[in-house]
Amino acid sequence: MQITSKLPAVGTTIFTTMSKMALDYKAINLGQGFPDFNTDDKLQGFVSQAMADGFNQYPAMAGVPVLREVIHHKVKTLYGRSYDVDTEITVTSGATQAIMAAVLASVGAGDEVLVLEPCYDCYLPAIRLAGAKAITVPMLSPTAANPFFSIDWDRVQANITPRTRLLIINSPHNPTGAVLNKNDLDTLETLVDNTNIMILSDEVYEHIIFDGAAHLSLASRPSLAERSFVISSFGKTTHTTGWKIGYCCAPKNMTTELRKVHQFMVFTVPSILQYGLAAYTADPSTYLTLPAFYQHKRDHLAAGLSNTRFKVLPSPGTFFMLADYSEISNDTEANFSIWLTQHHGVTVIPVSAFYEDPTASTSNHRIVRFCFAKKDTTLDQAIERLTKI
Ligand code: PMP
Ligand code: GLN
Repeated sequence: MQITSKLPAVGTTIFTTMSKMALDYKAINLGQGFPDFNTDDKLQGFVSQAMADGFNQYPAMAGVPVLREVIHHKVKTLYGRSYDVDTEITVTSGATQAIMAAVLASVGAGDEVLVLEPCYDCYLPAIRLAGAKAITVPMLSPTAANPFFSIDWDRVQANITPRTRLLIINSPHNPTGAVLNKNDLDTLETLVDNTNIMILSDEVYEHIIFDGAAHLSLASRPSLAERSFVISSFGKTTHTTGWKIGYCCAPKNMTTELRKVHQFMVFTVPSILQYGLAAYTADPSTYLTLPAFYQHKRDHLAAGLSNTRFKVLPSPGTFFMLADYSEISNDTEANFSIWLTQHHGVTVIPVSAFYEDPTASTSNHRIVRFCFAKKDTTLDQAIERLTKI
């Protein structure tokens, strides 16, 4: 049967493609973002207990109340906003489904959505499925004076039109590791003031932020929170990317619309995982220890790469690190990533994959993304191979 594709430009994601190539070539996989170590025994125990206790039927559509309570408490303590447990917090099937539901609920034909590139891969397809138009705005590339990718707010402003309904931001940022600072939030506040622009704030790496910095959630600014879907994921925070449990905090009127979509996408998400995560996350040390845990790994990989021909870019957040390979090759990021897997047994992700037009981006940089959510021994093996290039 012929089918008119709603997503003609979409193929298999770069993460799946590179992970398969890593398996095929027995390469060390520093590509797709997932830990190669197990989650805490304690969390596993809580989930097993929930199953034994009989929590095996449909949980509440918006998520089990005890988990929403824990999210409420965490967000209120860290960011100062008190989201209503019944009407403003929704537990989703990972951040991916929260993002899809938020976009489908908030925009449609005739609307424009601002997306900052490079960007995580699920934003653009969600906007297309909603029938809206994505307007991509490039981030500022690192320079000697400012070695981080950063948001070009003048360019964001220049792309706002009467049709702009949604702005998607992501901090800490995948793939660059960049984090929003106070000036960014001040500028954003001014930019959206007196507009009807909503914000989707993807904060899945909220607890993976380094060098003593505090994560600046949009939930922490009342004027931004009142127009934002603030989305996070337990996958990153509890080393359980395969469980696909995330959540969205948003004002009641926005949550009402999000839940209309959510209830017919998935209705609800696995009960035992929700109960387990609630019991585990009730202890704040489970997420407050993540910066130190991952900073050690970041520094370990950076120190190893400093003895190679890769040039590391600073990573203030996430479990990713960018590195410039222009001393090794002038080939495209996609070709270089394939070559590295096939000939040197280390898999990375080309940053060009995070652009709407992957060919255009590669004209201005030669950068790949390493994931350091790996055992130190895995990082050491990769470093050994990379040192030989
Ligand atoms: N947003 C970003 C920036 C991500 O990196 C990811 C996944 N790594 C997601 C959303 C999706 O999260 P989940 O696996 O919880 O769907
Ligand atoms: N978010 C993960 C990454 O950036 C991948 C998730 C996926 O494979 N869909 O690597």
